[in-house]
Amino acid sequence: MEWADQAIVLRVGHFRESDLWLRLLCRKHGLLTLFAFGGSRSRRRFCGCLDVFNTLQCRVRVSGRGGFLNLEEAVLLAGPQGLRQQWGRMGVAANCLRFIEALGISEDGAAEAFALTENLRTVLENAGQLPALLPLFFRLRLAGSQGFAPLLGQCGLCGGSLGSRALFVVDEGQMRCATCRAAQPVQSGRYGIEISPAALDLLRHVQQESPSGWPGTEPEPADRRACARLIDGFVQYHLGLSWENGFFRRV
Ligand SMILES: [Zn+2]
Repeated sequence: MEWADQAIVLRVGHFRESDLWLRLLCRKHGLLTLFAFGGSRSRRRFCGCLDVFNTLQCRVRVSGRGGFLNLEEAVLLAGPQGLRQQWGRMGVAANCLRFIEALGISEDGAAEAFALTENLRTVLENAGQLPALLPLFFRLRLAGSQGFAPLLGQCGLCGGSLGSRALFVVDEGQMRCATCRAAQPVQSGRYGIEISPAALDLLRHVQQESPSGWPGTEPEPADRRACARLIDGFVQYHLGLSWENGFFRRV
């Protein structure tokens, strides 16, 4: 059996002398690992385009034994231009691509994840200034696209709007307004993050927009810390992933 799809290369590894394995985010098929036999040699079949962050048009054969996926042919559709020379930005890219791998992308969520990742590449390539929290914003946005989103729009208990002194309750993945907070204090030992209206606005905006729509202006330092703690807390508690020393670890 064969199929064709567009795919973004997340990671490339060698095995044996001239063969490669690739982790791909496919537009229709989601996150997959494929083998490219002769991948490091055959310019005819792969045109030298099996590099991280490239978008490829792929022809894939499903092998009968074990359902292995073999990349038969690939053509370059798009890729970073000047980005590979910018180490700082490639580091941000690597962080985001690792998160895609760690999270896993199903067929249902594939198209949106694919679009977000292509948009991310455009931003990394072209934006004058990147938000300091960009890797964290990407985690929040991508997780939301796969159905894991903290509920930041209203109080999780009374449904009321959130003013000042609102609290994000990490294990519940939802907010508590100041009134509910006073009436029913969160027990000690549970992890809550107080977050300002401005920081909440920023996070809700990130949840709805693509990376190119995220504001380039930096929030106040206190807001920035609160946003980072909220996203980190949510991703650790609800997705079981923690970023440590260049890798996502299951926690
Ligand atoms: Zn409330």
